[in-house]
This record gives sequence, C-alpha cells and structure tokens, in this order.
Amino acid sequence: MKILLHICCGPCAAYSVKKLQSSGNIVEGFFYNPNIHPLSEYINRKESCSKLSEAMGLKISFYNDCRFEDFFRKITFHENYQRCGLCWALRLNKTAEYASNNGFDSFTSTLLISPYQDHEEMKSIAIKAQEEHSITFFYEDFRPGFHESHRLSRQMGLYHQKYCGCIYSERERSQKIDGRQQRTEAG
Ligand code: SF4
Repeated sequence: MKILLHICCGPCAAYSVKKLQSSGNIVEGFFYNPNIHPLSEYINRKESCSKLSEAMGLKISFYNDCRFEDFFRKITFHENYQRCGLCWALRLNKTAEYASNNGFDSFTSTLLISPYQDHEEMKSIAIKAQEEHSITFFYEDFRPGFHESHRLSRQMGLYHQKYCGCIYSERERSQKIDGRQQRTEAG
C-alpha cells in the first residue's frame, strides 16, 4: 500500500515509519503542523524532520509551510477542551485531502503514537476525514513503540520538543514549571 503519513515531529515519526515500512508499505511523509508556535520552534521541528528524512531515506512534503493562520482561524474563540480536537481535525483532514488528490491508497498519522493524547478521539476524527475525502484511513496503534521511537530519534540526533506545539501548550508547560518552582521555594 502507498501510505501518506502525517508527521507531527521527528521523534514520533522514527518508529511509525519503520513499522509501516516493515509491513511492506511504501511510505511518504507529510508535514503540516500550523499549530506549532513560535516560529523558532516550528523551524526546529521542521529541521528535525528534514534530518529524519535524510537518515531514513523518506520523502517528506512540507505543506503550507508556516501557515499559522490556518491554525488560528480554526481554534480562535474556542475553549481549551475543544481546542485539541479542532487541531487534530485540521491536520488529519488536510492529510486525507492531500492523500486523496495525490494517488495514495491511504493515510495515517504519527499522532497515534502519543500515550498522552486522546487516542480514541483522534481515531474517530480520522475516520470522519476518511469519509469526507474518500480515502482509506490506515489505523495502527503506534503507542507500544513510543519509547523505542524516542530512542531511535536520539540515535539520529533529532530535536526533542518540550511541549505539544501551540502557544497554549507552551503556556501550560511554563505554568507547571512556575508552580514547581514556587513549591520548592516554599519548602
Ligand atoms: S495542545 Fe497540542 S493538540 Fe492541543 S491544540 Fe495545542 S498543539 Fe494542538
């Protein structure tokens, strides 16, 4: 099967690519992540994917590069609890559309490797995208390979991010660090 793999970042892609290729599939990467903030972080993750592309001999299309407007148009005025679903839908729908228009048999995403995100919601969003764009969603639970993926990516010297991607997740991370510091100072 010729599969278009949406890639959120290098560390999540290393295992997913290997797994799909080892089952005899032809895999191509698709980097579409307008959620990543700020620009310097976006560039770090994009460069990490270019490095992965070289190391694994994987073709990656960088789609709508730096189109942060796509993300803000989608999520502005929505509350926290709605945001991630909209963010996944944005990226998975674009992947399905691109796969359908460019001769792929199916699409999938490295988002399915994360043990920290709502796997079932991502899966149901991808199933909706499959129906909307008339292309098969190739489902695989990549989560058992999460730690292996990070080990492989360290071997390749890829950049490892500290937060999910958007400005809101960056704020959450910084608030957690501040909270920890305050607790330490309070003894
Ligand atoms: S936390 Fe992650 S999944 Fe949720 S909106 Fe931000 S970048 Fe997207």
